[in-house]
Amino acid sequence: MPHHAATHTREKKHQLKQLDCGPECGFLIRSHDEKEIVDVARKHVKQFHGMDMSEQDIKKDIENVKE
Ligand SMILES: [Zn+2]
Repeated sequence: MPHHAATHTREKKHQLKQLDCGPECGFLIRSHDEKEIVDVARKHVKQFHGMDMSEQDIKKDIENVKE
């Protein structure tokens, strides 16, 4: 579908976000792309903690970073 709304996108698309796995772990990922964070974090918890986390679970832990 066509969309012409590219000029005034003040959406949170460029909001920098981060996910901090925890102080004991030390894993931290920052990205403007939430999907990337989810993908990387899911691999991380699987590989390092042997857990399967859903996209929903991970999104709950993602926080916005003030730039
Ligand atoms: Zn971790």
